[in-house]
Amino acid sequence: MVQPLQINRQYISDLIGKFSDFSRKKDDSGNALRGTTRLAYSDEEKAAACFLRNEFKRMGLYSPRDFAGNMYGIRKGDGRPSAILTGSHLDTVWEGGNYDGAVGVVCALAVMDSLQRSNAKTKNAIAAVGWRGEESVSFGFPYVGASAALDFIDTEKLLREHKFISGTLLSRLTRLNKNRLGDFGFSYDEIYNAQSNEQLAGKFLKALQSMQLLVQNLSAYLEVHIEQGPVLEKEGMLSAVSAISGNYRFTVNFLGEADHSGAMPMNYRMDAGFAAAELALEFERLAASMNSPDDHQKLRELRISPVEMKTVQGGPTTVAWNMQVSFDVRSCENEKLAAFRQKAAGIADAIAARRGVSIKISPKTPNSPIEESVSLGHPLISSIQEEVLSARGASRIFMPSGAGHDAKLFAKAGVPTGMYFIPCKDGRSHRPDEFSSTDDILVGAEVLQETIMKLDECTPRNGSDAISAGKPSCIFKSVPEGI
Ligand SMILES: [Zn+2]
Repeated sequence: MVQPLQINRQYISDLIGKFSDFSRKKDDSGNALRGTTRLAYSDEEKAAACFLRNEFKRMGLYSPRDFAGNMYGIRKGDGRPSAILTGSHLDTVWEGGNYDGAVGVVCALAVMDSLQRSNAKTKNAIAAVGWRGEESVSFGFPYVGASAALDFIDTEKLLREHKFISGTLLSRLTRLNKNRLGDFGFSYDEIYNAQSNEQLAGKFLKALQSMQLLVQNLSAYLEVHIEQGPVLEKEGMLSAVSAISGNYRFTVNFLGEADHSGAMPMNYRMDAGFAAAELALEFERLAASMNSPDDHQKLRELRISPVEMKTVQGGPTTVAWNMQVSFDVRSCENEKLAAFRQKAAGIADAIAARRGVSIKISPKTPNSPIEESVSLGHPLISSIQEEVLSARGASRIFMPSGAGHDAKLFAKAGVPTGMYFIPCKDGRSHRPDEFSSTDDILVGAEVLQETIMKLDECTPRNGSDAISAGKPSCIFKSVPEGI
């Protein structure tokens, strides 16, 4: 018998407590770590993934994992090929908080729990997921698990070293899929050797991808996440997300001359240090000149940060001759990012020429320097979000996201995608005191559930329109086993 759907508040509270246990306790020198440290492909993240699988199993869900270690819990629909997928990431940054990522996984679990308890009948299969490695801190690029699920991983990324744990992404995936290597005609030794062999690594990747998630079978991807900014806490309400910002990340290297900092008069110097300092301030001015006051709300404004400034091979009495400054520039307007990139190069060249130093600008991703913003404006999902939030009396229905999220990849892949932000304390995240209240997470889960059910209701009978047709079996090509 179908019972009314109800999210269990206590379950949410218990899950948040549970997730905080999956955290590295000490650094390599034995110093206690603050907050939550659950890095991509660490033992702690694996423990969280195992916990997630056990929860899925306990609820009676089909609970496969894919080759990247992403964990899914799936309940059947009425037999049609499509699925609505919801979740977020399991990992955190170093000494981060217990809410970024975990909140979306907790909301997905709470919805699955509610659907199972009420024995709800849906047309689509409903699937929950915990992604591995969303934060770029471990491998230098974000959305590792979701990228693997969507076939966005290339061999260059596969061979990146983990910053905190020994080994590459390839070695982590090899370990994860140890029992399956034979099925693909590989031996462990062969893959170990692939660490320095791009061709072999590529072959291995292709083999693993042969059992991938089929994007065309997803009718929607939905994600709940903390805002990571202060707006919603002030307004006391959650919001849907309209767009996820793009970014331009690059490093500027200034090369001057090393001289004695006391002996060499100022006007004889080729000082890379002051060139870098002037550049940072000029870039701040440039960004401000490209923003108007009302750009702020919609994240049409450019946000720029000199995220790292360092002297390379410097000394306490040497004029800085080799300075490196890295910038992170964000905006929801791709044209603005492109215009900034062009103007910034001109400014940097002019400073270098005036100060007699040489300069090199290196984008973080040379092949595609600007990662474009994406709109989450799928008409059906947006209208449902508007309906759901209006019914709760929300004053603001949509807001843009300055941070990237797994959802961005799904939107890029053409999957109808929607996100909700819930408030977090003082807008703080990526730090130990990150916090969202159980009540706010509860509302997030309720809104997620309402959206899923309305979306499911809107599913056309013939599986067209919002739903792309797919193979009518399950959302995997083959069923992976074991962890
Ligand atoms: Zn996150």
